[in-house]
Amino acid sequence: MINITKPFLPDLQEYISYLEGIWDREWLTNNGPLVNDLELRLKEYLDVKHLLYLGNGTIAIQIAIKALGLRDEIITTPFSYAATTNSIVWEGCTPIFADIDPGTLNVDPAKIEERITPKTTGILLTHVYGNPCDVEAVDAIAKKHGLKVIYDGAHAFGVKYKGSSIFNYGDVVTTSFHATKLFHTIEGGAVTTNDANLLRTMSLLRNFGHIGNDQFELCGVNGKNSEFHAAMGLVNLKQIDKIMASRKMQSEYYNKIMSHIRVTRPQVLPGAEWNYSYYPVIFESEELLLKSVKLLNEHWIYPRRYFYPSLSTLPYVDKQEVPISEDISRRVLCLPMYHTLRPEDMDYIVRILARAQNN
Ligand SMILES: *Cc1c(COP(=O)(O)O)cnc(C)c1O
Repeated sequence: MINITKPFLPDLQEYISYLEGIWDREWLTNNGPLVNDLELRLKEYLDVKHLLYLGNGTIAIQIAIKALGLRDEIITTPFSYAATTNSIVWEGCTPIFADIDPGTLNVDPAKIEERITPKTTGILLTHVYGNPCDVEAVDAIAKKHGLKVIYDGAHAFGVKYKGSSIFNYGDVVTTSFHATKLFHTIEGGAVTTNDANLLRTMSLLRNFGHIGNDQFELCGVNGKNSEFHAAMGLVNLKQIDKIMASRKMQSEYYNKIMSHIRVTRPQVLPGAEWNYSYYPVIFESEELLLKSVKLLNEHWIYPRRYFYPSLSTLPYVDKQEVPISEDISRRVLCLPMYHTLRPEDMDYIVRILARAQNN
């Protein structure tokens, strides 16, 4: 069986050596030494001023929305995972969808301006599949209209734009370290910012709003993560360059053997150093996609319709016109991609895709 992804598991003995430290200290959670150490190393790796390690990537978005004081309308992408839109709704705001560019699959900045109203307070976009949004255009629009920008960087670990970390664009960048992501801590996430005041607010929000033992400054939530999760992160971070190098090789191998398959690939933003975190392909029609998925499944191969459906069709959001997102969502498929996927596995997958399109 070949699944869409397989979580990376590090050397068990190395993880156990961290567990022994936890047993010695008897400190399991609440901003422990491993959490602090992981935050330091991630700041270094992602080249950001401030980073808070959190329970998951969804609470990261919610904390960012809350810390920036966003309310009413937030302009966002219809082409992302449900966590992006859900966080907006969960925070009592209204998602306003701006359609995507059919080439990059990220929000088309021109469509953002069309959606701005007096009620707009912020913009929340995803760097889809790790491909950076047109951050310069988005930031210019935000500045012009006095809007805050959050980027959902759940796919963007290690991505650079014009030589600097993609985590340095926007007011807050959120990310996820879920087991299925390129870099993971089993469950986990983070917010990054270069603004010290925002850092302070988000750090209070992460821990119920506590200042000292008996006082609360604001209405926070539990966004913390544990020493056990941080330990997984510390071990996995040592392997991340190797994991990224294997993704790049696999991605290039897929490119090479896919030339006769009638699919298109998203265009990476010029100036970006991509992390090859996913391998999305866009079919000519949904019919051909479904036929391909069926044949792959019959051979125990499980790709994923990611992102499907377009978030504009969720039953709890107002209907909005985003035809490109709705069209692409129906035709896009992520092929299996993980550190131990072998060239012969990819050959097999592509042979089946060829058979699906030829009969
Ligand atoms: C995975 C993911 C999230 C949510 O992260 P969790 O850690 O699972 O809460 C948010 N946005 C995108 C784009 C994701 O892929």
